Order: sequence, then C-alpha cells, then structure tokens
Amino acid sequence: MSQREFVVLGTASQVPTRQRNHNGYFLRWDGEGLLFDPGEGTQRQMLHAGVSATAITRIGVTHFHGDHSLGLAGVIQRINLDRVPHPVDVYYPATGEVFFDRLRHATAFHETAELRPRPVFEPGPLPAPGAPFTLEAVRLSHPVDSFGYRLVEPDGSRLLPERLAALGLRGPDVGVLQREGRIERDGRTVTLAEVSVPKPGQRFAFVMDTRLCDGVGELAEGADLLVIEATFLDADAHLAEEHGHLTAAQAARVATEAGVRTLVLTHFSQRYPELDGHLAEARKHFDGELVVAEDLARVPVPPRRP
Ligand SMILES: [Zn+2]
Repeated sequence: MSQREFVVLGTASQVPTRQRNHNGYFLRWDGEGLLFDPGEGTQRQMLHAGVSATAITRIGVTHFHGDHSLGLAGVIQRINLDRVPHPVDVYYPATGEVFFDRLRHATAFHETAELRPRPVFEPGPLPAPGAPFTLEAVRLSHPVDSFGYRLVEPDGSRLLPERLAALGLRGPDVGVLQREGRIERDGRTVTLAEVSVPKPGQRFAFVMDTRLCDGVGELAEGADLLVIEATFLDADAHLAEEHGHLTAAQAARVATEAGVRTLVLTHFSQRYPELDGHLAEARKHFDGELVVAEDLARVPVPPRRP
C-alpha cells in the first residue's frame, strides 16, 4: 500500500501571521519524503504535522528569499541531532551557494548525517540516486534565481494474477516476463501486455515565487498534483507582475491549460487575512479539485488516472 500525500507546513509569503507560518511543505511519496522551501518555524510545524526529520530524504529550495529558506538552518541541525541514517540530497539554485553554506553552518553543531548538496546550475534533470522517479528543475521568473521542481514517475504496468494463473505462470516465470517483456509457454510467446494493465506514472509539480512565464506551464503540464503560489488577487495583479508573483486566477488558468487534477494554492500575502477571494477567483478558471491551503492541511495525491 503506497502512501502519497502532501503536507502543508506553512502558507505565508514574506512574513508569518497569527494564522500562517512561513512557507514549508512536505511531500510523502511512498518511501521518499521531500521537504520544500522551509521558512522560519518549519521544524516546529513538522512536529505539529507529525513529520519526523528521518522522513526527509530530499530537500528542494526554489530560491533564497527568507520565507523559502530560513528554516534550513534548523531543519539541517535537527537531521543531524536525530542521526538520520540515510543521505539527504539538497537541491537549490547554484547562484545561492553562499546562502546555502551560511544556513547549513549557521551555528555550531555535531554533524552526524550525510547531507549531499546538489546545486542546480541549469534547468533539466537532477541527480536523484535511488529515487523511483525523475526529478527536474525548471527556471522561473523572480527577482532572484528561482527554480520550480517536478517529480515524474515513469509509466509501468500492473500484473493480473488471474491471467498469470490461467497460463500457469508463477514465481521465476513472472520475473522473466517482467525483465524481458515476454516468455515462451506451451509453444507460444506470452507478452507482458497480455497479462498486465498499464499503470500510468504520476506527476507532482511545485511552483513557487514567479511571475507568469513559460516555466510555470512547463512544470504544471499533466500534473496529478500541482502546488503553486497565489500570492495576490486580481485587484493587485500589478503588484504580482512587479514583484515576480502570481495571482490566484493566473495560477488556476495555468492549471486548467495543463490538465492538472488537484490544484493547491498557497504562499499568501499578509494583506489577505481571509482567503475567500482566492477560492472565488481561482474557481472561475479551474473546475478540478481545488485546495486553498491552510497550515497543517494534508492533501492526498489523487488516485492514478484510469
Ligand atoms: Zn521570493
């Protein structure tokens, strides 16, 4: 039984509010756990959400503004305090190396865990050893270098036990079939397609600080779950463009064009104490599953496409 869910740790852009912690997001994907954009207070939000440091296998930072990265110092020290036994890969824009180094070594602590820095120099596939998916970075448009991330699971197939049984295929036969795509049985060739159904891979996309640009649509394309910033409302669209952010309506339109199934809006400006407007403006453009994120909300990755 696989477990795939998205845990919202914080939803505030720029500054935390009484209701919203700085950004912070955790994607549980079977045995993997990806922490994205940890702002201040992420360690404590993880505690509230029941996410342990040991659950983290990778960290992705879109850009080095404080609301997306100040939490690195605390989280990295916690990973070491808890003696996390597996390596943790950390992805971040290479031009922010100095910020990463400072946050990583912000104060004295005893290093026990293996952190593997993976600076992102250019858009494209990222090194992700051991991952059952590919991870890609796509360039966004913000006053500082910003990369969005996309996780793509390859298409696979699911074996049908009743068809295997009917053909008398078992144990080692199944291994051969999976490895080679075919096997000889009773003088004929049985193909994998005959005894299985396609299992389409799933996609997750994470789009933070950016104005509308090609990268937003590229990341969102075909996503089962898209998490995207919606800092502003239509009335403040000029601020979005000026500061390199999106409005709820822009995010929703991109999601519809890209065929997104579940859309999660987050990263809200403190100027909006209530988020009814975000829901209403996004709803006009997107009729799939729509979540206006609240701190500590959990969003399941939708079931596979049929
Ligand atoms: Zn920013």
